[in-house]
Amino acid sequence: MINSPPNCADINEPGLLHLDLAKQAIQDAMPVLQESQQIPIEQAKGRCLATSIISPVQVPGHTNSAVDGYALHGSDLPTENTTTSLTIQATVLAGEFYTETCQSGHCIRIMTGAAIPADLDTVIMQEHCEVTRNVISIDARHKKGQNVRQAGEDIHLDAIVLQVGKLLCPADIGLLASLGITEIKVKRKLRIAIASTGNEIYSIASAIPEGGLYDSNRYCLQAALDRPDIEIINLGIIQDNESELLKRFNEAADYADIIISTGGVSVGEADFTKQVLQTSGDINFWKVAMKPGRPIAFGKIKHSIFFGLPGNPVAVLVTLYQLVLPALEKMLGITDKPIAPLIKARSLEAMRKKPGRTEIQRGIVSQTETGELQVKTTGKQGSGILSSISMANAFIILTHDRDRIEKGDWVDVQLFSGLF
Ligand code: AMP
Ligand code: MG
Repeated sequence: MINSPPNCADINEPGLLHLDLAKQAIQDAMPVLQESQQIPIEQAKGRCLATSIISPVQVPGHTNSAVDGYALHGSDLPTENTTTSLTIQATVLAGEFYTETCQSGHCIRIMTGAAIPADLDTVIMQEHCEVTRNVISIDARHKKGQNVRQAGEDIHLDAIVLQVGKLLCPADIGLLASLGITEIKVKRKLRIAIASTGNEIYSIASAIPEGGLYDSNRYCLQAALDRPDIEIINLGIIQDNESELLKRFNEAADYADIIISTGGVSVGEADFTKQVLQTSGDINFWKVAMKPGRPIAFGKIKHSIFFGLPGNPVAVLVTLYQLVLPALEKMLGITDKPIAPLIKARSLEAMRKKPGRTEIQRGIVSQTETGELQVKTTGKQGSGILSSISMANAFIILTHDRDRIEKGDWVDVQLFSGLF
């Protein structure tokens, strides 16, 4: 049973639920996916690591030279104000392994990355040596042990190199390859069914009659959820028809971890989704104190988590990013991903705002010559106007208690890069 969180009464409209409480209630109710799968590292970018990676080797694998130069015995280094000459005994290139001993008074010509012979401990950069035929001359500025990368200094044997829950990035894939790991265990993909509801909604493949409109929500959702860790099941458009909605959602619940539908959760006369879900699922209907995106349904149909998002396209994207994506990440087991921080920018315009709800406007953030961030809205902010997001590069988050914003006030912004 998913319990409704306590309602946060509002002076203007009792029963409105603070966005933070809605977020928390959703987070608390999300299960964490347990199943994992073994995949080659070439396919692992953007997947969530299911078990921590323990290094099977040490990196670097052998003590090697950090520069092109000459490897020698530290005990042969000259004392202050003197110089020393050493005879070049051999040359060792990267990839070669030199096993003969090097007597005192001798040195080895060595290249970057080449293994340093076991009896030597110091490398002098070639730029710091004077070379005459097979003899080098060095002065006293050098230190024993310099320019040597010790075996295991980056990663020692059995070290934890990547923690369970990490959302894998290109550097992680490189790291795995550097350890010779070919396959890893990641969380299996999350199966998400998406549907649009409404008698007025038509697929882009069909002609629309008077009073109809194209389904933009499903395409938008599909694009927003197009990630390596998600598998989309497209349920198409479902009519505002009780038995049809019941049948399709129940079928989807048999194989989807999550069902996301849009439309049909407000108080309109034809809002069947609400009636259907109230009778067949364990669903709460929330009036979240946010604009856009007030009516939201959240709960369970059989073992599937159900999100009923508003019908208006802007509200769909805003609620997806604010409420649904953090929940998906919890279910996927992601505990470590790059942060998309809230940052402050100066508003270039006054904005009307009612206290008692979080308003999420769409904005364009830019930087002044002195490096300060500033933001302006993308103009009309109606919840059906998708171009207000299309033109934006950030959400402007006007927090719950704020009143009118004056030109020059600081506001919170959330940049799309890192989010989208
Ligand atoms: P509803 O919540 O079902 O009353 O829908 C609210 C508004 O969003 C209405 O104007 C709908 O026509 C519109 N809408 C609903 N679903 C979609 C969709 N899939 N694509 C575009 N607009 C939609
Ligand atoms: Mg509708």
